Amino acid sequence: RKAVIARDLARLNPMQRQGAMTTEGPLLLLAGAGSGKTTVLIQRVYNLLTYGRGSDSDEVPNWATEEDLDFLEHFPDRPDGDEVRRVHRLCAVDAPRPWEIIAITFTNKAAGELKERLAARLGPAANDVWASTFHSACVRILRRDIDRIGFDKDFTIYDTDDAKRVIKDILKEQNLDEKTFPVRSVLSAISASKDRYEGPEVFRKKAEAANDWKNTRIAKIYAAYQQKLSTANALDFDDIIYHTVTLLQKEPEVLDYYQKKFRYVLVDEYQDTNHLQYLLTGLLAGGHRNLCVVGDDDQSIYRFRGANIENILNFEKQYKDARVIRLEQNYRSTQHILDAANAVIKNNEGRKGKTLWTDNGSGDVVTVKTSFNEGDEANFVAGDILMGVNRGRNFRDTAILYRMNAQSNALEYALKRNAIPYKVVGGMKFFDRAEVKDMLAYLCVLNNPMDDLRLRRIINTPTRGIGATTMDKVAELAAEQGASLYEIIRNADLFPTLKTAAGKLTKFADLIDGLRRAGGTLALPEFYDEVLNQTGYVRALEEKKDMESRGRIENVQELKSNILGFLEQDPEDATLSGFLNEIALYTDLDSVEADDNCVTMMTIHSAKGLEFPVVYVVGMEEGIFPGTASMYDEEELEEERRLCYVAMTRAREKLVMTNARQRMLYGRTSANKSSRFLDEIPAEDMRWESKPEPKFGTYDEDSFGGSRWGDDFGGGSFGGSSYSGSSGRSGGYVSGGVHTYKSTKPTAQTLRTSSRGSTPAAPSVGLIQLSQGDQVEHTAFGKGTVVSVKPMGGDALAEVAFEGGTKKLMLKAAGKHLK
Ligand code: ATP
Ligand code: MG
Repeated sequence: RKAVIARDLARLNPMQRQGAMTTEGPLLLLAGAGSGKTTVLIQRVYNLLTYGRGSDSDEVPNWATEEDLDFLEHFPDRPDGDEVRRVHRLCAVDAPRPWEIIAITFTNKAAGELKERLAARLGPAANDVWASTFHSACVRILRRDIDRIGFDKDFTIYDTDDAKRVIKDILKEQNLDEKTFPVRSVLSAISASKDRYEGPEVFRKKAEAANDWKNTRIAKIYAAYQQKLSTANALDFDDIIYHTVTLLQKEPEVLDYYQKKFRYVLVDEYQDTNHLQYLLTGLLAGGHRNLCVVGDDDQSIYRFRGANIENILNFEKQYKDARVIRLEQNYRSTQHILDAANAVIKNNEGRKGKTLWTDNGSGDVVTVKTSFNEGDEANFVAGDILMGVNRGRNFRDTAILYRMNAQSNALEYALKRNAIPYKVVGGMKFFDRAEVKDMLAYLCVLNNPMDDLRLRRIINTPTRGIGATTMDKVAELAAEQGASLYEIIRNADLFPTLKTAAGKLTKFADLIDGLRRAGGTLALPEFYDEVLNQTGYVRALEEKKDMESRGRIENVQELKSNILGFLEQDPEDATLSGFLNEIALYTDLDSVEADDNCVTMMTIHSAKGLEFPVVYVVGMEEGIFPGTASMYDEEELEEERRLCYVAMTRAREKLVMTNARQRMLYGRTSANKSSRFLDEIPAEDMRWESKPEPKFGTYDEDSFGGSRWGDDFGGGSFGGSSYSGSSGRSGGYVSGGVHTYKSTKPTAQTLRTSSRGSTPAAPSVGLIQLSQGDQVEHTAFGKGTVVSVKPMGGDALAEVAFEGGTKKLMLKAAGKHLK
């Protein structure tokens, strides 16, 4: 076993080895993309566990011989295994126990990988290392002690959808108009405030001081929001970290416990931590001060979520004794790719500046391709992928990266038509499906009956004759009594206003109580069966007898695989609330898996930290990348440029960047200029196929509404909705019955996978010839009448009056759902 580790260490270059072996005190590993930062972080954990701390020469034991000391001084650059072992034997003392190490990674998946790699060498002990995201680590901390700050240990986690619903309720209660206070922007104001570790009180004071009536109003919403969450014993994603910081700051005993416990704290992707996470890191590492942070200021891409590049730039000021190690050799990419990426990022001011070199050889130059429109662009990418496969590449070697989720539409279509298997990271998630949410809501209520929001979701699903009027009355009483909905329902008999509904309400409360009792004795999977059965949820679907309901039943049953998987993975924490927490924290980012042989499509944000032999970056146009919002703002523009750097440095061997003279997005066609980032790539590092005329389109400022832009940005919320694809697209998938998703692991997310052998959806050319008055049938919206048809960019936009309302459909795209 030791030989394996020694070989790993020997593989590192001298600077990397320093990073892995300098175990004591604050350490900043600041280095460019692909220089092995994550590799070093993992190696550091191995080393600590296997050999213990320290390689400082003054720690050499007194039994060391002259010869030993001489050897240490002349430790070779590329030592062999024996030499490495010898160094360790001489220098290492006092190895930490696995649970004394916490490594914070960007995704749960990265954390899982870290554990797997440790387990392969160290055995099951590796499982005790705290390898997790900020959020999972905090949930663990809160579950132990959150009762000290006024929450119950069985708290619920609200996702973005839940949070939106709470805000909506508050707007109604406070008689505020959603137009003046859009739910989304209220939530992001609250979220930004929490990122700064500022509660409703501070928010109010600031707003009043600034004489800002709108924010003064939002302060009230914020206060009501926190109140509601607290009554429901619920936390949103930001609260998870916020309350952990509060807990650690207010409860010296708890702080002391963790500061003693964590002898080593490691954080990957440190450039993307926000203020709150920065505070947390400082608190956790405050005892032993063995804090190792790893990052790259050039890859900071979460400013819009409060990430603060200063955290990394100021690390040396904050920790005066910090060691800074820089890595300069890139092991990922070939020279041309690296030079191209370096040349682009050089245009940013105010960076720590670094040079990256590689001895991977010069490789191919970057290919840039301009197509006529987004359909041609997509076809080019598909054709190029097929060519690569013919030459022996695998589909899984390839990633297609785009700035916004909405861009995936045209690409998906082209891939399908060419029968190229692919998965979209960030499509409709399994856990976002209504029926799955329903079942999870049942489980949440069974875990924590105070969870008003979930209770409302399921009280009449399936129908139990408990209508909105009754629930309004219940809510009124709950507000009067300062009680939860459940408590009112449990005691419905006592309230005259509930008289007529009391029987039904009591029956519901009996159902919940009965199941809760069953939960006390049954194992989780059996308990789940009991829930499916007793709630009547599945029976109600069975009675519907349609395709869609059958799919829903399957999904609800599929959730059981998640429970089983969860038990396997974490048998010790096999409780209902453990399972619910686990589910709540899974994000799309965790679904990037390399096992399937298919092309991966995702936003650039989601691609952080990953690498692929072949990378396509599409939509290299002004107004797309950089986006409209950032074109006139220097700081935003620099963030876009960092994003471009991240995109380019994902490629190992082949990088292709594409754009189109004319593009339709969100149902509007526009002609954009070629992206300035392409102009920043040196001519010798690229080959521009069909370079456009100097006057390449005219930029149409109105082409992209600012608000829409915001809708699809980024990809970083934890389990939040910012990942979900454009609504039209995912909507189609839910209803179309063409979806397959994997969920064999507890962590499984839905990946929309089109497998190689399956028949690709045929382009329904005939549909484009539809005209006014034609009758159509859509798999999701039912029967409808065509109101108008407008040709548009090789497709046609049709307005169709369905029973539920008029919808605008792109006919080709909607093709497979239309008859
Ligand atoms: P990013 O900034 O994108 O997160 P990173 O700095 O974390 O990148 P890694 O992902 O750790 O870089 O490493 C990039 C690639 O280089 C990986 O394939 C890794 O296995 C390889 N690598 C790292 N160090 C070495 C080394 N000393 N010798 C050979 N390959 C290495
Ligand atoms: Mg990394």
